[in-house]
Amino acid sequence: MEMLINGKAATATDGGWIEVKNPATAEPVDRVPRGGKDDIAAAVEAADAAFGPWAEKTMRDRGLILARAAELVRRDHKALAELLTREQGKPIRESTDEVRGCANILEYYASIAGQPAGEAVSLGKAGDCVVTKVPLGVCGAIIPWNMPVIIMGWKVGPALLAGNTLVLKPASTTPLTNLKIAGLLEEAGLPPGVLNVVTGSGETAGEALVQHPRVKKISFTGNCATGHRVRTLAGEHLKALTLELGGSDPMIVMPDADAKKAVEGAFRGRFYNAGQICTAVKRLYLHEKIAGEFMRLLTAKVESTRVGNGLVPATEMGPLNSPAQRDRIANVVQEIADREEGTVLAGGSPVPGKEFEKGCFYRPTLVGNVPPDAALLRNEIFGPVLPVITVPDLATAIREANHSRYGLGASVWTRDLGTVKEVFSQVNAGIIWVNRHLTVPPEVPFGGTNESGMGRENGFHAIDSYTQTKTLFLGW
Ligand code: NAD
Repeated sequence: MEMLINGKAATATDGGWIEVKNPATAEPVDRVPRGGKDDIAAAVEAADAAFGPWAEKTMRDRGLILARAAELVRRDHKALAELLTREQGKPIRESTDEVRGCANILEYYASIAGQPAGEAVSLGKAGDCVVTKVPLGVCGAIIPWNMPVIIMGWKVGPALLAGNTLVLKPASTTPLTNLKIAGLLEEAGLPPGVLNVVTGSGETAGEALVQHPRVKKISFTGNCATGHRVRTLAGEHLKALTLELGGSDPMIVMPDADAKKAVEGAFRGRFYNAGQICTAVKRLYLHEKIAGEFMRLLTAKVESTRVGNGLVPATEMGPLNSPAQRDRIANVVQEIADREEGTVLAGGSPVPGKEFEKGCFYRPTLVGNVPPDAALLRNEIFGPVLPVITVPDLATAIREANHSRYGLGASVWTRDLGTVKEVFSQVNAGIIWVNRHLTVPPEVPFGGTNESGMGRENGFHAIDSYTQTKTLFLGW
């Protein structure tokens, strides 16, 4: 598949390619150009030329194109979901949800087009001010491989609706569905150059995009270390920044919780997408009164999980996205044993069997007896490993939940409003769920505190982040 620059298919200037492999089978799926600095420059030039006419359209006209694109994504959802599973690994059910979710996001932004933004300020005899919101210009979007389709929607929807043009760089292991959806946006009527997609590595294409002087904003989603690098590079040009980085979300379960619902929540919260979600449940705090029964139910569920090729409909958990990702998780589990920082209660190894040999499979894993300062609790574990900690009371759970450099999401499972109030007021996180985890509809602002990032995606907050304030002062 080729890149999209100025409405045309493009290969890399230096002729290089990146092979995209299926993580379930190690077979090639397709290849994409290894774009570099010159390709980014060409894409930024196209986006710059497209900016004026695009910004001059009404928001409603821009919204209509997003609405049409949402319809096209729905029309092609089966093929898109299959492609996403083949490049990313997740079960086809999850890919279908993700593709439909992207259509919902585009449709949501179309639906709020034209709603009032800005304000009027009266200064009496001195005059009146009209405070408006104007687009920034060319923006850059950098996407990770874990939820590439949803995250594309989170960036493309608000950036384009607000009147900006975009250069998007997908992750090297999952560029294909992003390219297909960009093609559907063009089919929906997006003028050439408004959305450009340059494939390539983070170090070359990614850094060239962040450093390009004509790019006014970078919206980056990825890990914390890369986020710091992006912030430093973008800072040289005082670019606007949204950083959506890693997380280590705590889930707190109190004795009055609906146990069945909470077990389901913990399972889905940790093992959806093979644990590769920024807001996955990465630390489970169970009140000691319910810990025994809860673990009996959760362990049975984990041990009976059907792990396999995501294209097989019965699969409940697919492979990790790459051999590097699988090896990282295997190392995490090995280190638990080496450092005596926990006991593996379920899983803890690659999946045995010939059909799994070539794929990046790892069993869903539960770890108990984890000391408070274990690496497993302090670092983000981006895969299917769940540490479980028993706590005597809510105060301990909150203290331990906050013992983290991250602050993306957190959940509490309870029926008691007083408990909800305590957790909401004391736990550091961008979102606190009650009796839920993971769910982030497009209306809901999303982003982290601490090392989890800065800025918010979704809702009006995202549109705001792709605009700047410009005031007309009318002196009478
Ligand atoms: P990563 O930082 O390695 O890569 C993300 C993207 O950045 C890729 O497109 C990559 O090519 C690009 N990139 C890499 N180095 C770059 C550089 N020097 N300059 C510019 N771009 C560069 O992230 P990852 O490990 O692939 O993704 C997983 C991480 O993403 C996890 O930490 C996860 O928590 C986080 N994440 C956060 C959110 C959120 O909304 N907060 C959502 C999804 C994933």
